[in-house]
Amino acid sequence: MIEVKNVTKKYGKTVAVEDISFSINDGEIVGLLGPNGAGKSTTMNILTGYIEQTSGEVTIEGYNTLKKPKKAKRQIGYMPEGVPLYTDLTVKEFVTYMAELKQVDRKTRKEKVEKVIEQTGLKDVENKLTKNLSRGYKQRVSMAGALVGEPKILILDEPTVGLDPKQITEIRNLIKTLGKTHTIILSSHILSEVSQICNKVIIINKGKIVAIDTPENLENKVSKNDCIYITVEDAEDKMSKIKDKIPEIKKVELIEKNEDKTKQYLIETDKNVDLRKKIFAECAKENITIFEMKKADTTLEDAFMKLIEGGNK
Ligand code: ADP
Ligand code: MG
Repeated sequence: MIEVKNVTKKYGKTVAVEDISFSINDGEIVGLLGPNGAGKSTTMNILTGYIEQTSGEVTIEGYNTLKKPKKAKRQIGYMPEGVPLYTDLTVKEFVTYMAELKQVDRKTRKEKVEKVIEQTGLKDVENKLTKNLSRGYKQRVSMAGALVGEPKILILDEPTVGLDPKQITEIRNLIKTLGKTHTIILSSHILSEVSQICNKVIIINKGKIVAIDTPENLENKVSKNDCIYITVEDAEDKMSKIKDKIPEIKKVELIEKNEDKTKQYLIETDKNVDLRKKIFAECAKENITIFEMKKADTTLEDAFMKLIEGGNK
């Protein structure tokens, strides 16, 4: 159980997080969702005891993070943003090093390191230097580092950022599996991600919590718009022009740039029109290669934008 009460974090005059409160029960998979600069990493760093809040209180499994920092920290496996790894170590050496840092009992250390390597699917690369691994595997190594020491709680800061679609699916599945035995908090600026993995969403914007609910409830709270997700190869950035060609399109928004140079866009359309045929034809004309196109209700995206726009007024 995690309890956050009235936590504020200021950096000089910048208020990174303002008076946030929430609690997380055992076994929940919670998504901390918000745009860049919303305060996600700051919140996570406070939960892990990595930085101190300016005011307010955090307890992890009953341990106050300021009064009982060691005990509180021991409950948590933390995967920070941006996969910081010691690149001149092999996978096994890195995970062993993490185990040492976490003071995993010497007698069982080797066995526990092996278990975590197995769990995260790293057995085949355990003797490779982490610097020679793909981004997806590096993420797994970072995850293994968080997992070693058998923490009850996993805190994962943007676990799929920078991964290609296949790696994203793999990491998501790994998180879902780990969710069966751990309490998990992950951050993301991508809605679809959070709605697919999490059973509770905390939406944060400009340091403030704007909603806490299940993905289903958030979806039901707002009227649905139609939208299309499309993944394209579009070197000349012509996707944005599609809007002018098809009047029923309300908005074209770049959601993600993938490592393989493809981009994912969200196309919002008038209600109850299916523009897939028209979009397909326009893209063909413009020499935009379509990798994937799927129709979806805007759902959580809508909820998210409404909440965030509401907060900006
Ligand atoms: P997120 O992870 O949601 O992108 P952060 O928690 O990293 O957001 O940042 C929240 C806000 O706090 C931002 O405005 C950011 O610029 C600011 N901030 C974060 N870390 C620091 C720091 N060490 N010093 C000053 N400002 C910071
Ligand atoms: Mg961040």
